Amino acid sequence: PVPAYIKAIAPYVGGRPIAEVAREFGLDEAKIVKLASNENPLGFPASAERAMQKAVADLARYPDGNAHDLKAGLARRFGVPMDWITLGAGSNDILILAAHAFMQPGASAVYAKHSFVVYALATQETGGRAIVVPATADFGHDLPAMLAAIEADTRIVYLANPNNPTGTFLPPAEIDVFLAKVPSNVVVVLDEAYNEYLAPELRFDSTDWVRRFPNLIVSRTFSKAYGLAGLRVGYAIAQPEVTDLLNRIRQPFNVNTLAQAAALAVIDDADFLQRSYEVNRAGYGQLTAAFEKLGLRYVPSYGNFVLVKVGEDAGAGARVNLALLKRGIIVRPVGNYDLPEWLRVSIGLPEENAAFIAALEAVLEG
Ligand code: PMP
Repeated sequence: PVPAYIKAIAPYVGGRPIAEVAREFGLDEAKIVKLASNENPLGFPASAERAMQKAVADLARYPDGNAHDLKAGLARRFGVPMDWITLGAGSNDILILAAHAFMQPGASAVYAKHSFVVYALATQETGGRAIVVPATADFGHDLPAMLAAIEADTRIVYLANPNNPTGTFLPPAEIDVFLAKVPSNVVVVLDEAYNEYLAPELRFDSTDWVRRFPNLIVSRTFSKAYGLAGLRVGYAIAQPEVTDLLNRIRQPFNVNTLAQAAALAVIDDADFLQRSYEVNRAGYGQLTAAFEKLGLRYVPSYGNFVLVKVGEDAGAGARVNLALLKRGIIVRPVGNYDLPEWLRVSIGLPEENAAFIAALEAVLEG
């Protein structure tokens, strides 16, 4: 017998792979532009590739299950002890580990409407009840409402900053107030997958919060600004008591040898990170200027993607998406986020953004 809450889970739907779209629409793979999964348009960092090549010699052996070197690198980078770090196979692993550690049937998790879909998955697969808090008028997290939504059985609150798919940002001062008010027996998972795209004046040191709040887990990833999405590496920073729990329940060897080597190398690749930031910033300007010219509404974004409204009627997103796919442009419809009139487009290289804009213009005119 399968628990009803497992049967009820809708599978995660990712951005469509290039090869799949090429097959379905009879297109040349090389001509397809994929702006659907918030990947790094600069491609795989050379520093990571060199490190992986060296690590290949060790592949007959299991990885270092404690990932000593990578944890030491992250500890150095953040100025925290190594026993504050948990590694995951992507930060999805961290989000799910947190649920496995703290949720159970009969418990609830609080998260915002239009926030990252894995919070719902993690809640469901652990038999928890979701308390979904309406977004603010500008698609952000309503922190006072989220605080008020916490019930006696609430075990986790998920916050995304910036959030996917909306790109909204919570000022640190608001998070500070929120963390101070959350009951200490509720774990806050602060998902900062897109942190590295924040402008320098908006960046802040979230490890300060980890020092102050033993019930906080900060989640980060190497998938976005560091360009390692295919390797699956993410990490959590939390105080030792929580970190110890996460480490006990994670799958042994959850981060493989090549991923550990590559991630360690890119931590110090400041040049790649800076280029990721600059390409993203320029691309954001390019896309939003085009949206304004086309008279399309978009949500100001702090991530490496933009949510744009492509029609007034429900289903507009799916229709425009299909027309774009036929032209070899893969973006992300967000009907599953209850945003059926919108598309989420990842920020690409200038030529990729231009190809998307031209196709969108043609589709909307046609
Ligand atoms: N959090 C957010 C908000 C995301 O958008 C994503 C990626 N789509 C993730 C976490 C997970 O990414 P990864 O597992 O590759 O680290």
